[in-house]
Amino acid sequence: MVKRLSIKSGSRCVDEPDICHNRWHPDIKPSIEVEPGDIVEIETRDALDGQISNRSGIEDVSNADLNLVHPLTGPIYVKGAKPGDLLVVEILDIVSDSFGFSVVIPGFGFLRDLFPKPYKARWIIDGGYAVSPEIPNVRIPGDPFFGVMGVAPSKALLESIRRREEDLRARGGIVLPPDPRGAVPQREPIASEGLRTIPPRENGGNLDVRHFSPGSRVYFPVFVEGALFSIGDAHFTQGDGEVCGTAVEMRARARLRFYIVREGSKKYNIRSPVFRPSENSLRRFTWSKTVAITGFGVIDDKNESENTTLSARHALLNAIDLLERVGYTREQAYVIASVAIDLRISQLVDVPNFTVTAFLPLDIFLEPPRELLEIAL
Ligand code: ZN
Repeated sequence: MVKRLSIKSGSRCVDEPDICHNRWHPDIKPSIEVEPGDIVEIETRDALDGQISNRSGIEDVSNADLNLVHPLTGPIYVKGAKPGDLLVVEILDIVSDSFGFSVVIPGFGFLRDLFPKPYKARWIIDGGYAVSPEIPNVRIPGDPFFGVMGVAPSKALLESIRRREEDLRARGGIVLPPDPRGAVPQREPIASEGLRTIPPRENGGNLDVRHFSPGSRVYFPVFVEGALFSIGDAHFTQGDGEVCGTAVEMRARARLRFYIVREGSKKYNIRSPVFRPSENSLRRFTWSKTVAITGFGVIDDKNESENTTLSARHALLNAIDLLERVGYTREQAYVIASVAIDLRISQLVDVPNFTVTAFLPLDIFLEPPRELLEIAL
């Protein structure tokens, strides 16, 4: 049986609280019930709930209310799903919108200390590719997926997450605590207790794994009756790392199918999502030409020990330098990296320096820069 969850065009999450929410909480009422094996056709809003416009200019980025992140469609109640089971979500297909965007939001992103100003690139999506008026000579093939997919945490899980994140915040970590401002549903106590959607957690959420494209299956441990699955934050494409903080963000339509593995989470001791990657997402490593740029844990002549984050930063900065050398601005290069460069861990043993490698596919350039072709693999 096919069930449908559609969005009224032009509406915001707050306008449709029966099918949209932007916090994780076990008491959010399901929008539909489905049987295992049912197909659900869903529509999703973009990560910023429609705040980024198709016009040039960055006022919309500067003025964006980040409390509205991420509007999610759902929850979907899957009959028979019980704590201890695994919920299987099969991604059958995803239809992309014709408009996408990548933005740099001050204070957010892997290199936020170096990119303090807002930036926006619009993408026109057509025929399986995205091109941007802001980033010349680039045409990126899509392999759409959802950045956010997850199930409701139980009350106990919510409480233990809240406690550990509060503890981290007290130690100076970057944590967005629950905040009723902008929360959907606005009903208390959900608005004040609901977990923010930025970090991925045991229940899934903002995993931002590009391998969740059509053909993939994701297995979520179930924490509450019916699992209460929700989905949103579609990405037309993204590099491994999503470094500037956003991918090619868009609205989308999709078809999903649900199954249950009885006691699967208990039996296989699965405590966070596992998945079968889509074939297409794996095929990406057969780009026809790639320049791969290494990084190790050294920046500005300062060496750190066993710091993978620093290695990733080093590789990324080297890649941005290279893109700058062939004519892009640093902001353009940062966005290109976010949507097309895959950061991969090459080794975690050669102390004190670990290797992270940035894979820059030359296939994304309409005309690959000559300087890059000379060093392409
Ligand atoms: Zn996103």
